[in-house]
Amino acid sequence: MLQNNLTEGLYNPLNKKEEALSQLAADIVNSNVCPELAQSAKQLVMGDGNVNADVIFIGEAPGKKEDELGIPFVGAAGKFLDEMLLEANLKRSDVYITNIVKYRPPNNRDPLPEEKEAFTPYLDKQLEIIEPKIIVTLGRHSMEHFLPGMKISQVHGQPKRKEEIVYLPLYHPAAALYNGGLRQTLVDDFKKIPNILSQIN
Ligand code: URA
Repeated sequence: MLQNNLTEGLYNPLNKKEEALSQLAADIVNSNVCPELAQSAKQLVMGDGNVNADVIFIGEAPGKKEDELGIPFVGAAGKFLDEMLLEANLKRSDVYITNIVKYRPPNNRDPLPEEKEAFTPYLDKQLEIIEPKIIVTLGRHSMEHFLPGMKISQVHGQPKRKEEIVYLPLYHPAAALYNGGLRQTLVDDFKKIPNILSQIN
């Protein structure tokens, strides 16, 4: 029995990824990353979904509801994200979802440059563990991290390949909630994901 468990733990890649992500979450807490945010937030919001996914969505930082539940994109913007996933024939369990900054900034203010920087090595490691083929950036902060110097109004919905990874910059679902015009743009951009994925595969 013990032997079987050990063997599964060693050879099941899913377990390995989940274990590595748990270790990474522990490292963030133990290294006291962004102590002020850690103090004001209820908990670390590491990520949600399928650790073996080809597609990863990366937002900015958790909001109130995300902070309460410890899961990214579960508030109003998250509901819209779920709707768009459905329209693109995807489920949350087909993809992985996370943020650049993994603690809620107080009063949902924008994450500061030093906060984004502090989380960068952990985000890099998270991507190394998940090994996505497509990185979908949600909003300006996430786009700037991966595609610096680009303007979201000019590049949204246009896949960009850098080395082995395809980046798809999208508007943030929260922005689209308050702007009817953006909403349709975002839905249309979102529907490109299955096509991009099938071309890669
Ligand atoms: N907005 C984000 O950028 N991330 C979340 O998790 C929720 C809202």
